[in-house]
Amino acid sequence: SAEVENVPAGARERHAELAELADDANWRYYVLDQPTVSDAEYDGWMRELRELEEAHPSLATPDSPTQKVGAPISTDFTPVTHLRRLESLDNAFNEADLAAWQARSERFIEADPGPYLCELKIDGLAIALVYEKGRLVRAATRGDGRVGDEVTANVRTIADVPHRLTGDGVPEVIEVRGEVFLPVAGFEKLNEQLVAAGKPPFANPRNSAAGSLRQKDPRITAQRALRMLVHGVGVWEGGAPLPVTHSGVYERLRGFGLPVSDTYRVVPSLTEINGFIEHYREHRHDPEYEIDGVVVKIDQIALQRRLGSTSRAPRWAIAYKYPPEEVNTKLLDIQVGV
Ligand code: NAD
Repeated sequence: SAEVENVPAGARERHAELAELADDANWRYYVLDQPTVSDAEYDGWMRELRELEEAHPSLATPDSPTQKVGAPISTDFTPVTHLRRLESLDNAFNEADLAAWQARSERFIEADPGPYLCELKIDGLAIALVYEKGRLVRAATRGDGRVGDEVTANVRTIADVPHRLTGDGVPEVIEVRGEVFLPVAGFEKLNEQLVAAGKPPFANPRNSAAGSLRQKDPRITAQRALRMLVHGVGVWEGGAPLPVTHSGVYERLRGFGLPVSDTYRVVPSLTEINGFIEHYREHRHDPEYEIDGVVVKIDQIALQRRLGSTSRAPRWAIAYKYPPEEVNTKLLDIQVGV
């Protein structure tokens, strides 16, 4: 309607204040790789922003931090426009949130959206790899989802990332998405080295991976023991037909020589999704990399396409987040020891 919403000045001012805080935090987190507030504090601001926008929808303008992905890229790297937008994920914090997402999906497609693919949410940074005729031609960070930083030379130093795809049915052009991360042991070792050299340590493995990948000198990246695991596909043209399920895509990608996790499971319903989540709540530290939750995806690609995306995240996937853990004690030990 053309009706202009009357937002109380107090709400408008608080919204502007929080938006500025979040934009600044995004810059420090995504561009500088040096956050100055905790994730819990940041998440609190975002929650308050969303609440204000629910009460006063006209505050949810496209430039609000709630409507955006990441942060605009820095000028240190060459900008790359992604072939297809890279997105974030919506969150669930409990069984009710998850059940609501499942019910919403079911209403939307007017059928059972199952089966579901459950996998670990690796706390790293998103990367898009473009292969043409099987050769790695470009790697870029997510950036603001539309434009990312070109980091091809840096990504070539990651042993998990094949420079050439192998096997049958490799597409003419394929854009693979995944997570670049530093295993916990590598993160702790790196921080010890940084502190010994009188440099500031990284706040967490995610920031250490981002800081290690986004180096002007790829020789520094090469020393950082980065790893990569695949979690999606943006473009698939030519070659074997695109498999009909997300898990089918993973197995194809594995066949092309790309690194795919062994821990994902395809399950029929919410009961088993909750089982997977509870298992990894207990076994959160079993993987060699840090996880901050579980990602649940509707496995059938045709249903993913019908559900589509909001301005910042797909409707066909959701991130179940575990409560944040307290500051890394090893890191505190190091700082105390300085
Ligand atoms: P996110 O990390 O919550 O989720 C989206 C990302 O998950 C994807 O882009 C992808 O890279 C990754 N991912 C990992 N495993 C995946 C899998 N198996 N399948 C699909 N994707 C997978 O979202 P975000 O937008 O990158 O970051 C938001 C979070 O970052 C906030 O909740 C906050 O905790 C943190 N943050 C903190 C600060 C700060 O100042 N402390 C600032 C900005 C953001």
